[in-house]
Amino acid sequence: MILPGACIGILGGGQLGRMTGLAARHMGYGIAVLEPTPRSPAAQIADTVIEAAYDDLDGVRRLARAADVVTYEFENIAIEAAREAAGIVPTHPRPEILHICQNRAREKQFLADNGFPCAPFAIVDSAAALREALPAVGGAPAVLKTADFGYDGKGQQKIAETPEDFEALWREFGAPRGVLEGFVDFALELSVIVAANPAGEVRPFPVAENIHTNHILDFSIVPARVPPDVARAAVELASDIARSLQLVGLLAVEMFLTRDGRVLVNEMAPRPHNSGHWSLDGACTSQFEQHVRAVCGLPLGDPSALKPTVMLNLLGDLWHRGTPDWSACLSDPHAKLHLYGKAEARPGRKMGHLNILADSADDALARARAIKARLLRAAGLGDA
Ligand code: AMP
Repeated sequence: MILPGACIGILGGGQLGRMTGLAARHMGYGIAVLEPTPRSPAAQIADTVIEAAYDDLDGVRRLARAADVVTYEFENIAIEAAREAAGIVPTHPRPEILHICQNRAREKQFLADNGFPCAPFAIVDSAAALREALPAVGGAPAVLKTADFGYDGKGQQKIAETPEDFEALWREFGAPRGVLEGFVDFALELSVIVAANPAGEVRPFPVAENIHTNHILDFSIVPARVPPDVARAAVELASDIARSLQLVGLLAVEMFLTRDGRVLVNEMAPRPHNSGHWSLDGACTSQFEQHVRAVCGLPLGDPSALKPTVMLNLLGDLWHRGTPDWSACLSDPHAKLHLYGKAEARPGRKMGHLNILADSADDALARARAIKARLLRAAGLGDA
């Protein structure tokens, strides 16, 4: 057990590292961060900052020596870096889990090999393979995704109709390997974040309902507005995956609920997740505190929701006319503001989020939508 007073090393300096670090600080831990960008969100709250690239093994060794345990805040960390850290101090989740989750082909293969439900898929590495695979995943429409380093809809394209020219499509895709997936006509997108500690305790958060806009998470709604048996199935699925991976730490599992009521896994991330930010204000234990407890081997906290909560992402677009009018959005006394300390606002960049607590998910969502509309109008962006 790694007790308060010890130091947690985080590979990556973004907002997930910042919020994990803040939770750790509350509990009396020290924080060391490795991140190449100066004044990163996590560096601002860290005791020790190592400014080095994620694959700089010398930097990783310095981080691991400064820390009692190492974890990650995003999955595009070179696997060699994670293994280097694991050779020096306990590193959670174990690098093999990172290895699976950072590549869609390995991730899908893991799900299929272990009998976890996902969309039909095929791994393709040429125009000819793509031509052959398309009927096997159910034909068009389908989605072609890069195998490596894809997130927030980057590196994916929809194949709306069977192409005449597979060579041209493959050239346009540009990556050496891809995962072709059958298109899921989903009713809703859901996610479950699950924590596990070295003692084998596995604790899922309640299922979140996620609304994406332009492939970026817009709202997370807890509890998800789904029948209890669907919520149970989603939570059990995520917990089973965590057990099967022998997880220590956090795992976020994004899922589709199909129109005929099936829950399919879309993708996984072995770290805190944007769709768990609601828990900072809406849950008994936040995902960040739970992450700290899990990687330090402490008993896990109660992840249940205290109140229906909606998280609204604040993207850089809202800075179009300068700093958004925070006083206007905080005039809803149910809204809690979280900003990540990023100096430069760019369209699509995650700058912060708001959590809105209410007596029902519908009420929280209505309040969140009203705040978003106000912020967009103030930024001169109309009511998108
Ligand atoms: P991903 O990068 O895999 O998280 O995908 C980003 C978004 O694209 C998802 O949140 C879905 O809205 C959509 N998407 C991804 N895969 C599929 C699929 N197989 N069928 C339908 N929509 C998809």
